[in-house]
Amino acid sequence: MAFEDYFDEKLYRMQNTPEVKDLQIHKLQQHLTKFYNQSPAVKAFVDSQGVSPEKITLDVFRQAFPLLGQDTMRGSLAAEGAKQPGFVVDMMAGMLGIDPNDYVLMCATSGTTGEPTPYFFTAEDLEWMPRGTSRNMFMVTGGDTEAIRRMRAIQGFGLSMFGAGVPLVECLTRLGITCIPVGAEGGSGPILKFSERFAANCIWCTPSLAEYMVDTALDRIRAIGFKHVFCGAEPGAGIPEVKQKIEEGFQARLYDGMGLIGGLTLSSCNADEYTGMHHLTDDMFLFELVDPETKEPVPWEDQAIGTIVMSPLQGYSMPPGRFSSGDVAQLFLAPCKCGEPGWRIKMRGRTDDMLKVKGVIVYPSAVDGVITGFVPRVTGEFRIVLDSPPPRVEPPLKLKVEYGEGVKEEDLEALAGEIEGEMHAKLKVRPSITWTAPMTLERATHKTNFIEKTYE
Ligand SMILES: [Zn+2]
Repeated sequence: MAFEDYFDEKLYRMQNTPEVKDLQIHKLQQHLTKFYNQSPAVKAFVDSQGVSPEKITLDVFRQAFPLLGQDTMRGSLAAEGAKQPGFVVDMMAGMLGIDPNDYVLMCATSGTTGEPTPYFFTAEDLEWMPRGTSRNMFMVTGGDTEAIRRMRAIQGFGLSMFGAGVPLVECLTRLGITCIPVGAEGGSGPILKFSERFAANCIWCTPSLAEYMVDTALDRIRAIGFKHVFCGAEPGAGIPEVKQKIEEGFQARLYDGMGLIGGLTLSSCNADEYTGMHHLTDDMFLFELVDPETKEPVPWEDQAIGTIVMSPLQGYSMPPGRFSSGDVAQLFLAPCKCGEPGWRIKMRGRTDDMLKVKGVIVYPSAVDGVITGFVPRVTGEFRIVLDSPPPRVEPPLKLKVEYGEGVKEEDLEALAGEIEGEMHAKLKVRPSITWTAPMTLERATHKTNFIEKTYE
């Protein structure tokens, strides 16, 4: 299998066009009809709504199918599943009307804070991922298929991660990209060692791990000579200050990505300035925006802001329906200056992460952006200290920030004043900063946690 087996340039160029809208409706009708015919659960639900899957329109679909939280759905399934071995597998397969033995890969979130949340894949699902990712590779290389063939990629996300773990390895190898599955479980040590031994030239990892490698192993990553850094699972790569730090550190272009499961593909492009992630799979997923609080629809217009809702148009990795990802994003419909297709989104944060300080909405990722702008006078590590459950925060917003190596104690007060002023100018919130010595806050190799709760 190689790149050419999965890439379809006509579909790639069709993104964000009126043509693709017709294709979406056609695929939605096909997709619903398939499940209507094979899953008694889907048939019962569709019949209860009095709609016809073969003739469904977008408006009817959105009225008939309630908004579901992807994590909530899988989470409640996982909680039930803890009581009975195999329950989750039978339940998922039953809901989709397939034989449980049709699953070829069973993954889950790590389950460190509760039950592992299941993500299962059929053979067909594994074929959708490289179709989406092939468009991402085409965009970042400017269509240079030889460059794609020469990619030798470190897989540096948690290997047990449901999307970016083993499924990513499956996806890259199908595209003819050499994949080195190291995982993030062992930290940056094994990643650097494997990169050197096997002469890796690109890496997939979280932005916090990429930043950590810039901080602790700059000479080694420069010597390895990565050409592309693909980040995801966290918003960092879309924050200008973080992007600049990682690109300067790696001397390589950083791409901010989202998706994979079900073929979903969003990625930032080669524009020097971050312009958001291009959505490259309009023919595989329907998107809409809803208000983060009221869940009411937000009109699909340039620069609109809302929580992302997605509906798959093929495959078995999600049941048919409308799923909220929990991410709040801003939409850009105008063509990107890079010339590549697809509408774009910039992530604002997660609905669950949203904080409200005197009515002003603040996302931890935005605070991260301001703090990173003060490196090296700060290390970049910080925590937002919450004394009561979010989103409401009694002002001032409390931050615990690590000062940089070599910063004198007598300069800290003035530096705190500078950061507070910058944050007020950019985020309309004036925080209160307490200082902590370099390397005293715990480092994350999986996902960064910016919140410290004193109320639990
Ligand atoms: Zn672009």
